[in-house]
Amino acid sequence: MSFSPLILNLVNALKCLPGVGTKTAQRMAFELLDTDRNPGFKLALALTEALTQVQQCSCCRTLSETPLCALCSNPKRDGTLLCIVESPIDLLAIEQSSHFQGLYFVLGGHLSPLDGIGPRELKLEELEDKLKNSNIREVILAINPTVEGQATGHYLTEISRHYGKTISQIAYGVPFGGELEWVNHTTLNHAFHARQVIPHDLPQN
Ligand SMILES: [Zn+2]
Repeated sequence: MSFSPLILNLVNALKCLPGVGTKTAQRMAFELLDTDRNPGFKLALALTEALTQVQQCSCCRTLSETPLCALCSNPKRDGTLLCIVESPIDLLAIEQSSHFQGLYFVLGGHLSPLDGIGPRELKLEELEDKLKNSNIREVILAINPTVEGQATGHYLTEISRHYGKTISQIAYGVPFGGELEWVNHTTLNHAFHARQVIPHDLPQN
């Protein structure tokens, strides 16, 4: 069965979403075109509003519909701590799962010389301006533990060091509630090398 041009157009447009193949896109399209069109119109309006009004925060580059996002404009956040992440979704993950009270900088990807993505493409001069002009004391790297992520981390360490900042990196290792025998070798090796001495005053359980 072939679809009419407008339905085919909708199916193809839906396939831009992550994890959505042809079958899923077809199911979504028919659901949206069901007799009750209200959910579809709501979705179209929400999408149009978000696409036209949500921009990058001028300070941390996360997504925001105001020039300065809610985090950057919150005076209670600690401006001496700067956590660097690859994407706004990584920022959200840290906000939802940690008690970090500092500020963020979103890279918008990672360095990948083979794909032509260097410091200029990621506009890292904006990060350098921040390191130069603010009272940041510690830079915390929360970059994905991939080959490109590690290379990006090395570069960020160098520029942070150049401006005299303390640099730390979030620990990667055995997942909480996980079992050692199921952890892959690279992760276990990393966790082993990043082991910490248990202080005397910490009760062991
Ligand atoms: Zn911000």
